[in-house]
Amino acid sequence: MLDYQASKDILKNRVVLVTGASAGIGREAALCYAAHGATVLLLGRNVKNLEAVYDDIAAIGAPQAAIIPLDMLGATDQHYRDMALTIENQFGRLDGVLMNAGELGTLTPFEQTDDDSWDKVMKINVDATFRMTRALLPLLKASEDGRLIFTSSGVGKKGRAYWGAYAVSKFATEGMMQVLADENSKGPLRVNCINPGGTRTAMRAKAFPAEDPMTLKTPADLMPLYLYLMGPDSKSVNGQSIDAQPK
Ligand code: NDP
Repeated sequence: MLDYQASKDILKNRVVLVTGASAGIGREAALCYAAHGATVLLLGRNVKNLEAVYDDIAAIGAPQAAIIPLDMLGATDQHYRDMALTIENQFGRLDGVLMNAGELGTLTPFEQTDDDSWDKVMKINVDATFRMTRALLPLLKASEDGRLIFTSSGVGKKGRAYWGAYAVSKFATEGMMQVLADENSKGPLRVNCINPGGTRTAMRAKAFPAEDPMTLKTPADLMPLYLYLMGPDSKSVNGQSIDAQPK
């Protein structure tokens, strides 16, 4: 795990959007970015949980956060265009995006994959992520030090039996990251992927119900890498897929 420490204000004056900020890794990343000075835009479905994160950010005296309630399953291009416009009007900039929201779907033999599960995983992990990214790119490219982080998985680099739609969606995520990193290699925007590795969250518990969660790293354990890739010290890192828990 990356041993990275940064000053408390390393993200000062930056505006950072975190998708799936209501729970798990995204919640922790939102708190971490806020604690390091960023104004964090909290996107997710569960408004009650987003409000709790908002309150936690206020309680540590970090810059006031904002909540973007959005279900990426039903969202359209218009939602993403409106979102980009609102961010521009209200904050005047967007310096970082952590694309973290994800759907596991049903783990099953490939030929038994049902349409609903496939469609849901592809819609949230690939289609919505693409559409949101496309809408936000002009703002990210306008930042003098933009950062775009996608969230991958071990099964997004090597397929594994029964992980069908989820694995395919994470391969697509790696592809999206590589294309964007290459297209932006000359500008200030940096585009990378994080593979969190097994982490103590609801999604992991759903995938491995028999596992003892206490044997797993917590989202907080991963934050040095999440902070490094969102901040100014990762200027020279582009097009990389980095394991938060290298073997
Ligand atoms: P959780 O299930 O704990 O959290 C998922 C987050 O995604 C929630 O905030 C949830 O929001 C949000 N989300 C899901 N569907 C939607 C949607 N339709 N619209 C908006 N937001 C949505 O997952 P983790 O924290 O474990 O996972 C975070 C990322 O890390 C995912 O991309 C996952 O694939 C990846 N990952 C996780 C690993 C692990 O071991 N935990 C390992 C490898 C990769 P809400 O609560 O509001 O519904």
